[in-house]
Amino acid sequence: MRVKIRKGDTVEIISGRLEDKGKRGEVINVLPDEGRIVVQGVNIRTKHQRQVQTQAGRQINPGRIQFEGKIHVSNVMLVCPKCGEPSRVNVQRDEEGAHRVCKKCQAMID
Ligand SMILES: [Zn+2]
Repeated sequence: MRVKIRKGDTVEIISGRLEDKGKRGEVINVLPDEGRIVVQGVNIRTKHQRQVQTQAGRQINPGRIQFEGKIHVSNVMLVCPKCGEPSRVNVQRDEEGAHRVCKKCQAMID
């Protein structure tokens, strides 16, 4: 599956965990091999860090760490920066390379 979403894009969650559905956020990481992305503020997970004993017997940084979990690209839609609607994109190629075009307003996204 070709990932048409890039770092810095805004996406809307169209399926997946209910509390995140309809949320919008900026893409902060893209993992094309997995077909997954990380979106700021979406799919927040909490990692419980175990207390670590150092050789001196001291504990370092026990506690919880919150982070954004990966989500599959099929659960999101790119939000077009021109019309502000979540939409599918076509990829058009010309001599300058590949451009993404919004299917709703036909605007060239980049
Ligand atoms: Zn558009």
